[in-house]
Amino acid sequence: TDKFKTGLEKTRDSFSGKLNSLVARYRTVDEDFFEELEEILIMADIGVNTVMELIEELKEEVKLRNIKETSALYEVISEKLVAIYEEAGETETELNINNEGLNVILFVGVNGVGKTTTIGKLAHKLKAEGKSVMLAAGDTFRAGAIEQLEVWGERVGVPVVKQKEGSDPASVIYDALQAAKTRHVDVLICDTAGRLQNKVNLMSELSKVRRVIEREVPHAPQEVLQVIDATTGQNGLQQAKVFGEATDVTGIVLTKLDGTAKGGIALAIRRELKVPVKFVGLGEQLNDLQVFDSNLFVYGLFG
Ligand code: GDP
Repeated sequence: TDKFKTGLEKTRDSFSGKLNSLVARYRTVDEDFFEELEEILIMADIGVNTVMELIEELKEEVKLRNIKETSALYEVISEKLVAIYEEAGETETELNINNEGLNVILFVGVNGVGKTTTIGKLAHKLKAEGKSVMLAAGDTFRAGAIEQLEVWGERVGVPVVKQKEGSDPASVIYDALQAAKTRHVDVLICDTAGRLQNKVNLMSELSKVRRVIEREVPHAPQEVLQVIDATTGQNGLQQAKVFGEATDVTGIVLTKLDGTAKGGIALAIRRELKVPVKFVGLGEQLNDLQVFDSNLFVYGLFG
């Protein structure tokens, strides 16, 4: 709970700061109040469509409950934000991990979003829960990606399966799957490339990797987690759509929430991508990966 509060500080300062001053300026609810409220919500990156809907619902609620004072709206706004998140579909944040046999988690996402860091954090978390974990260095394209994953492997104390830079990612993943089976590993976490310069090429590479996993392990991959950088806001959302088309993403990890005042993007993502946010990154340390909770999140936006 405290982690959420601290991680959302920038968004909260900006969002509640503006909201408080709005409420102070307009004591009673009117059309101008709603226009300014709309602007504040859009600035928090909640997404234009979502904001429009929210404003309409707020107006109705104000009429229905005969609310006059703007200060009475805090509760209604937070209730509606949670409802909007939850109405968008499944909100399950638990990883789909079986207690028996090998589980495979595939990570996808654009370079720089925090994919490698998140893989390290998740490996640490799973290991702390008593699972044996192995990493596969499937980003054979970006210079330094393999070494970076190895550093995380050492830090967390889990083995990393790799080949040399430039080798076929599907072949690396195949090797890792064999090693994981032989060593009776519980969870194999696979890194993948995130270059977007040649989109078609990358997407066919990801499909090939996925096919290898499906062929080698029944019901795998159990999770395909897409990492999105919260600081890139609506741009990150657009990039995310490209990946979503190529692989069936089962969950989102929203990183760097601690570094943005636009944390409302979590709501926009849920609505637009129709995939639950499973984790959020709230800092650069091993323990800064938190399971997403829409209630904690929305209440963390307010003072
Ligand atoms: P990749 O290219 O997607 O693998 O990205 P990296 O894992 O190398 O991360 C890029 C940068 O973002 C690094 O400097 C990380 O320390 C930083 N980073 C990753 N996640 C978070 C987060 O949740 N919060 C903050 N503040 N920084 C993060």
